[in-house]
Amino acid sequence: MRIAIAGLAHETNTFSTLPTSYEDFRVTRGSALIDAPFWQRLADMGHELFPLFVAHATPSGRVTRACFERFLDDLLTDLQEHLPLDGLLLHLHGAMDVEGVGDGETAILRAVRDIVGRDTFIAVTLDLHANLAQEVVIHSDLLTAYRTAPHRDVLETQERGARLMIACMEAKIRPTSLMIKLPLLLAGESAVTEVEPARSLYARLSQLDSSPGILTASILIGNAWTDSPQTAVSVLLSGTDANVVNREASKLAREIWARRAEFAIDAPTGTMDEAIRMAYAAPEQPVFVSDSGDNITAGATGDSPVFLEHLVNAGVQGALVAGITDPQSLKQCFAAGEGGVVDLFIGGRLDYTFARPYAARATVLRLLHKAQGVTPQALVRVGNVEVVLQPDRQPFTDLRYFEQLGIDVHQKKMIVVKLGYLFPELRDFAPRHIMALSPGFSDLRLDRLPYQHLVRPIYPLDKEAEWRG
Ligand SMILES: [Zn+2]
Repeated sequence: MRIAIAGLAHETNTFSTLPTSYEDFRVTRGSALIDAPFWQRLADMGHELFPLFVAHATPSGRVTRACFERFLDDLLTDLQEHLPLDGLLLHLHGAMDVEGVGDGETAILRAVRDIVGRDTFIAVTLDLHANLAQEVVIHSDLLTAYRTAPHRDVLETQERGARLMIACMEAKIRPTSLMIKLPLLLAGESAVTEVEPARSLYARLSQLDSSPGILTASILIGNAWTDSPQTAVSVLLSGTDANVVNREASKLAREIWARRAEFAIDAPTGTMDEAIRMAYAAPEQPVFVSDSGDNITAGATGDSPVFLEHLVNAGVQGALVAGITDPQSLKQCFAAGEGGVVDLFIGGRLDYTFARPYAARATVLRLLHKAQGVTPQALVRVGNVEVVLQPDRQPFTDLRYFEQLGIDVHQKKMIVVKLGYLFPELRDFAPRHIMALSPGFSDLRLDRLPYQHLVRPIYPLDKEAEWRG
């Protein structure tokens, strides 16, 4: 079989004023896309693999039209050069919003189907935080999404997509796919798959996969910070028997709807000041506190100094903010050198809706110079609080980000991170986690967000929302 592999993934936060441009994407091309043993086995079986490119960017504001058109042109040109194709494995996030275009995935699938033709099997792998449009399902032959949030099954999902696609092509099967949208809006933090009710709902998926007539079942939580008509929780099934797919998708959707009130943030929540009090009252150390309104992984800017200001005002000892995006202040720190004292205006330049630059005198404690794979960073002290200043929007998702700065996390009482839920390594490590409901582009208080494009009524914004299946 002649199989192409490509991808274009972005989770767009339409509330963010920071657009996503071409330079924000990291692009992997060619053989690096298929260096896992799984792909080698496919090649050994005689399949011809054409790894084109996979581009993805940190979640942020709308993708610029120029950026989107450049990637789409590249993709269509690459596909054209490799026709005819038996199959195409397409990695998408499923929540891309493009300036002047709208839903990115709809535009991609429409154009790709047009180029490859009806005979090519298109398998799509998705993030479970996808807000999928029905047109994407119509143009695809099979769709499957991650089953873990935080995401621990990225490669597994891609391999499942490829394996099912090849099995279908060999058996000359074109599956039926069905998506049911529920009038339900959830932040990812309320649907961590390691806790109820998501845990048992997601556990149903592997049972469904092995049911006769079904190939793969997915639950899409969606991304609540993309304000679009397709933003909602969905059930998505691909299978060989339309009746079974219909019946089982409806059943799963009813199960989710019945448990809608159980979805909740799986950590103690409070305002920033409440989170500080809770952290210092806790026996554990370090306590990780998510500055969830400025969650970079949900598309916020990561440059809000508001939490830092609250910590300085609280006068607490042993707190660290990791970190704040601020290339300008970072430059001043490097000019002053370690031990230097500088007057800074910290952050508040990318997010000028919820934040303002914070005027502060800072002592430069440590400078991390640019090295391979490491961006320059500064560890400074403002009042009694330590804060990492960084040039880009890199969230502290793993312990290595602390280690490379020489920070011993065990010595800190409280560590503020620009995240919502903790990513796998921190989640496994953190002795305690608190979710601060701070304001920002990724506000977890969805009722505070200025939605305009959601299909209403939707639960829990509209308590009266009904769904009868
Ligand atoms: Zn996700």
